[in-house]
This record gives sequence, C-alpha cells and structure tokens, in this order.
Amino acid sequence: MKYHFASDNTSGVCPEAWQAMAEANVGYHPSYGADAITAEACESFRRFFDTDCEVFFVFNGTAANSLALASLCQSYHSVICSDLAHVETDECGAPEFFSNGSKLLTAKSSLGKLDPTDVERLITHRTDLHYPRPKALSLSQSTELGTVYRPGEIAGLCKLAKSHGLHVHMDGARFFNALAAQTATPADLTWKAGVDVLCCGGTKLGMAVTEAVVFFNHDLARDFEYRCKQAGQLCSKMRFISAQWLRILNDDTWRQHAARANGLARKLADGLGQLPGAQILYPVDANAVFARLPETMKSGLKERGWMFYSFIGGGSRLMCSWATTEADVDTFIADAQAWA
Ligand SMILES: *Cc1c(COP(=O)(O)O)cnc(C)c1O
Repeated sequence: MKYHFASDNTSGVCPEAWQAMAEANVGYHPSYGADAITAEACESFRRFFDTDCEVFFVFNGTAANSLALASLCQSYHSVICSDLAHVETDECGAPEFFSNGSKLLTAKSSLGKLDPTDVERLITHRTDLHYPRPKALSLSQSTELGTVYRPGEIAGLCKLAKSHGLHVHMDGARFFNALAAQTATPADLTWKAGVDVLCCGGTKLGMAVTEAVVFFNHDLARDFEYRCKQAGQLCSKMRFISAQWLRILNDDTWRQHAARANGLARKLADGLGQLPGAQILYPVDANAVFARLPETMKSGLKERGWMFYSFIGGGSRLMCSWATTEADVDTFIADAQAWA
C-alpha cells in the first residue's frame, strides 16, 4: 500500500528530529522535564514567539487540545468551534471528558474557517442559566480543509470572542504549514492577534510523538502541569521530546519541511486540476489537497495501491508531508491520468 498521501502522519520521523534524539541519547539526565535540554527548548519557544510564553509538551494533539480547552473552561461552560473542527469530529469526546462536561457548540464554517456571524449568534442567542455559557472559541490553523487564516481574520475572531468574555484556543496541529504559507510572524498569528493558547503540532511536521501547548496567557496556564500528569501526558524521558523541538525551531528546519509540503500540495493540485473530470474543491493554502475525482479514477488509483481518504471534506483528501517527493506527486498524477 502506498500511504504517501493518506495523511501527513503516515510519514516517518524527519532526519533532523531523529538525529536530535540520538544526540540526546547519551548519559544520564534529570527526568520529567527537569533537564537542561527541556529548559533550552522552552527558551527557544519564547524566542520563536517573541514573548514570555509558558510551554508544555504532550504526546499528541487530542491531549493537547483537550487539556488546553479544559484549562479555559469550567464544566458548565461551552466551547465554540467549527462544524468541521478536529475537536468535534475526531477526538472521541476527549475535550468534553477532560473538561468534565464543557459542551462543544458547532458554528458554521466557510472553506473550513469559522463564520464570525454564526459565532456571534452562538455566543448571544442564549444567556440564561439553563444553557452552558460560552467561554472559549477554538479555531484550527491551518484548517481541516487546508485553508489558512490570515492575521486579520484571527484578530477579528479574537476581538469578537474577547468582547463577550471568551478565551481563544488555536488547534495548530498544522501551525507550521499555516506559518510557511504567509509572511506573517509566529507572533502575528497568535498572541498579537489575541490567541490565549496554541496547540503547536510537531508530529505532522515530522517529529516523533509530540505537540507543544503554548500559553500566551499566564493565568490560564496555572496548574497545567498537574493536568498533564493526571492525564498520563507527562513524559519521564522528556529530553527526547525537547531535543527535537530545540532542533526544529532553531534551525529553520520547520520552515524547510512545512514549505516543502505546502509546495508539493500546490504541485499536486495543479496537476490533478488539469485532468478531465477532476475538480479541486478548496484553495490549497497549506499541505492539503481536496479533490472531487471520477469514481473510475479513484478506484484505479486504489488498485495501483494508493491510499487516501474520501470521508473528510466532501472529496478525496491528499496530504503532503516533509517526506513527500516530487516523484511521488508525478507518479500519482500519471496514475490518475491513466483513468482520466
Ligand atoms: C491530526 C490533528 C490533530 C491531532 O490529532 P492526534 O491524532 O490526537 O495527534 C489535531 N487537530 C487537527 C486539525 C488534526 O488534523
């Protein structure tokens, strides 16, 4: 099976992250994040975002999102997210579970982005105590449809949220793809626009088992380390996670991998879009291509061993990663052409 385009997590660990782990694999170090590599990695996050943020490392995105949202809400609160949000559709109720019952309220989205009018409707249409009070807004960057929010769009949503007393969470499983897609700085896309907490994705970028939870709002980070520990998300050999972050953030390695994945998605969309009967469904801002393909083309590609999902976003989803090659894209397009 050729899993190349099924997801950006079907690829392996990028050489830089692997090497960083090998280099950390020498001697003895303090455990549970008390080591020097972890302290340095947290410092490099503060440099990267150009602010004094608090940083915690967990193993995956579901934990990052759920624990972050739980720290923004009481059990009687609610979280507004898009109807396509990963927290709603792909986390098995973990955000509700870890927050002891905060309800997710889904707002309409357009090309994967939250519709501000619908967000405002959800915030204001009930204010009585029989309804869970909205306390957090969650947006995904890049979105589940491969589009990217610009700083002004984020700032607009944050302003709306804050004017009603809501905190803002960003699901950045593909934050680096969104960052590489535009000239904005990491700060522009987060705290300068009003984001309180970012779940910053490492795994899909090319790292092994890690996401960083970055709090720009210090009050909300209180006791977060206890939430991580209780949820089984405190790594005892933390240095293997920290060493990867240190390497990826400091060397501009993140940009190289994210830009490559974005560029190959663009190339894939350009090639597929020219085939008769194939239609690219959404703007390819980041590393995802959504295409409506003729049934014969889909089954032909699957016969040749290509794996991709067709249950997300109303079409076939093709994801590029750090490991995708020009040759993968060319071969896929050539195989698609055979059934066009
Ligand atoms: C992949 C992904 C996550 C993280 O999922 P895990 O499998 O729990 O690591 C979170 N949000 C989005 C939008 C994703 O695509």
